[in-house]
Amino acid sequence: MKFEHPALPYAANALEPVMSARTVEFHWGKHEAAYINNLNKLLEGTPMENDTLEEIVRKADGAIYNNAAQAWNHIFFFFQLSPDPKKKPEGVLAHAIEDSFGSLEKFKEEFAKAGATLFGSGWAWLSVKPDGKLVISQGSNAHNPLRDGHVPLLTADVWEHAYYLDYQNRRPDFLAGLWEIVDWKVVEKRYEDTL
Ligand code: MN
Repeated sequence: MKFEHPALPYAANALEPVMSARTVEFHWGKHEAAYINNLNKLLEGTPMENDTLEEIVRKADGAIYNNAAQAWNHIFFFFQLSPDPKKKPEGVLAHAIEDSFGSLEKFKEEFAKAGATLFGSGWAWLSVKPDGKLVISQGSNAHNPLRDGHVPLLTADVWEHAYYLDYQNRRPDFLAGLWEIVDWKVVEKRYEDTL
């Protein structure tokens, strides 16, 4: 199987001013394309050649894991963003966030802190644990919570390539801006699929 680099459902400049067209063009257009191309090359002639991307993320190691998880994580990140997002969760997800974190505002604070305090490159996550509880986590490099038995719901890419063109060293400003473009409709659907 050859993995494709999917087209985004919005224009490169649609997330401005939170994320510039230049960032989307480099981050999605170049970085994500490279992970997918590298993965396709690395998979040739291996026993994982016909596996799904999720299966590869769950079991691969080394360079195949790194490129597969980065490919998966970026699709997960960019497809949860929208120029016309639902600005807050409702229903079962809203209740689960209140139960786990006290309020949506507290959740946003803790999630942004996880992103801001990760040393070096990586990702912040909101996931569902095997017991059904929500958890915020941070992981270095190409970390993916599927490896911890969690089901991911929401992520923030905190590699410098995600924000440096627009925010330089101000990672917390990038994280604060994300709430303007995160589409909670997507996150609600991901959560409902776990129930
Ligand atoms: Mn990235």
